[in-house]
Amino acid sequence: MPSKLFCEIEYLKGVGTARGEKYRKLGITTPYELVYHIPRAYLDYRCYVPVQQSVLNEYNVLKLTIFRKMSPQRVRGGLIICKAVATDGIDDILVVVYNNVYGFNALKEGETYYMYGKVTGNFLRKEITSPVYIRADESVLIQPVYPLTQGLSVNMVRTNMKQAVQIMKSEPFETLPEELLRRYNLCPLMYALENIHFPASEESAEISRQRLAFDELLKLQLGMSMMKSRSRKSTAYRMDGSVSVESFRKKLPFELTEAQNKAIDEIISDLCRDVPMNRLLQGDVGSGKTAVASAVCYFCAKNGVQSALMAPTEILAMQHYKTLTEFLEPFGVKVCLLTGSLTAKKKTALKEQIATGEFDVVVGTHAIIQKDVEYKSLGLVITDEQHRFGVAQRAKLAEKGGTPHKLVMSATPIPRTLALIIYGDLDISVINQLPKGRKPINTYAVTGKLRHRAFGFVRERLDEGRQAYVVCPMIEDSESDLLAVKSYAEKAEQEDLKGYTIALLHGKMKSAEKEKVMKRFRDGEIQVLICTTVVEVGVDVPNAVVMVIENAERFGLSQLHQLRGRVGRGQWESTCILITDNTGEECVRRMKIMSSTNDGFKISEEDLKMRGPGDFFGSAQHGLPPLKIADIACNTELMNMAQSCARELLEADPTLSRPEHKALKTDTMRLFNKEIIG
Ligand code: ADP
Ligand code: MG
Repeated sequence: MPSKLFCEIEYLKGVGTARGEKYRKLGITTPYELVYHIPRAYLDYRCYVPVQQSVLNEYNVLKLTIFRKMSPQRVRGGLIICKAVATDGIDDILVVVYNNVYGFNALKEGETYYMYGKVTGNFLRKEITSPVYIRADESVLIQPVYPLTQGLSVNMVRTNMKQAVQIMKSEPFETLPEELLRRYNLCPLMYALENIHFPASEESAEISRQRLAFDELLKLQLGMSMMKSRSRKSTAYRMDGSVSVESFRKKLPFELTEAQNKAIDEIISDLCRDVPMNRLLQGDVGSGKTAVASAVCYFCAKNGVQSALMAPTEILAMQHYKTLTEFLEPFGVKVCLLTGSLTAKKKTALKEQIATGEFDVVVGTHAIIQKDVEYKSLGLVITDEQHRFGVAQRAKLAEKGGTPHKLVMSATPIPRTLALIIYGDLDISVINQLPKGRKPINTYAVTGKLRHRAFGFVRERLDEGRQAYVVCPMIEDSESDLLAVKSYAEKAEQEDLKGYTIALLHGKMKSAEKEKVMKRFRDGEIQVLICTTVVEVGVDVPNAVVMVIENAERFGLSQLHQLRGRVGRGQWESTCILITDNTGEECVRRMKIMSSTNDGFKISEEDLKMRGPGDFFGSAQHGLPPLKIADIACNTELMNMAQSCARELLEADPTLSRPEHKALKTDTMRLFNKEIIG
């Protein structure tokens, strides 16, 4: 690897401690990292307008000659304002620069510049404030715009970038073998890294971006695939395929859907191989993933092997425990519940029984995969609502003794391309079908003015013997939100829901309390559950047919879909009423999407489009390296290219050990947490 490129950033001319600090804030510590500081967009100075045509209160490009500079004024608070009169030959405009005497001094009277900045004022007197600019005789008029931090101007970054690129060119490097470049029609890395910053033309900027985005996606694919193959090396509990789940299927209170059966078959065939399974089970809310999980646990138990089902919340763990017990105990399969809130004594007793193999299935929160929980023979670990567990947790699971098979279940259906990225280390089964007889949930978005009418509708359903949810948003740990939810419930009890049994459920309650409330709701003793998003994941009460969501604007699309999935689980027509007074464009669009479709895949695609992949799960949650260049939502084709390229590469050289792949491997390791790939 080249050396000067990996010096401290202060090695660059003009970068002292202060500026170095600012670069570090951006995560840039070396010239190498600087050349990988990719512009957000480009400014095309060729598209300038006359002063007279500039749009007020917007950013404009102007071509201006400095006419007269005034001396800087110091105002209160130490602010320094510099002003100059400039002209485009017809109209004058005031150039105003705040707190940047150095930048202002660089402007010379009589010189002509392209300037880009916000134009304010009125038709008679216009100002352009703190513009970025280049001299009109610059040869390249397309300039990058960088994600910046306070105190780092475009011009500073450009100057430093020029030097960093020079260093890079004096020590050229390339990560892809030439043959690949040719085949995938990609430009050389040195060309890309120079032209992304100093493009000779729009085309060269685009070609460069393609190459760099490809690199990024390729590394992501490689990293994920290497994780996948690493976890596959070790053997696991190989089960006996002749063990039948027929009697389990027969005894269920319903007939499994074709999609459920297919998923069960796929999973079982994985379990019968001697490499650990690593599978994602994707299915829309209400598609019946728990039944699939039960069948699989049954299969393990009949093989004499333990399984564990891990849920993200205690409520959900308790519910799964109830379902699994109901489905499995008739066959003599023993199920237990292990959560963090048990007394120490009870926990110890349970753990002992788990270690001796008295229980076949262990249900619980993440407590069940902690180091101190020993299993006699843990053959399968199922995690429900996968998106709450990240890559790192999956890796941790892989370390559990004997390397169990792993199944993750997700109710957030995501577009295939994104699934391949986020779950690139997993195989995927999809339940693309809801149980027979499910009716779509009618969804309406209304403003607060219609709240009383909405509750009139709720009361009608309650009078028919059904139940309802009212969801209020609440930020965890916010006392004021908690108060708001409490007073909302009190008010409802006295007004709109007078005479009905209601109860409050929120994340701040002790889990025993939560459990009690959930049980009473499930048993029909409570008619209306006023709750926060604790019901978001997995809660299953088929008799609940209405959901009112307050402040619907505070939820994202996928979350609204998850919430709504709590109703429409039985034979009755169900309704979801979204209440919001927000009439902003984005909110209106979200409400429209919710009212127009029940298809989780469609909704998540829209969600992805609106929020961008970075936000989709929050990178902290899925634990993937953030993508700087590639935009997954828009780069499907490039994504496919990167994928087939990764596949080819790894087929020929599974550990990327050949000399021509060394640079690529180093780069991939740099992007990923090294321990994950190892
Ligand atoms: P999710 O996929 O959202 O986790 P659940 O497993 O909670 O869905 O199932 C939703 C509801 O549908 C449960 O009440 C479950 O008993 C029921 N169910 C599951 N599979 C079927 C089926 N094949 N036919 C009818 N009802 C089913
Ligand atoms: Mg579920």
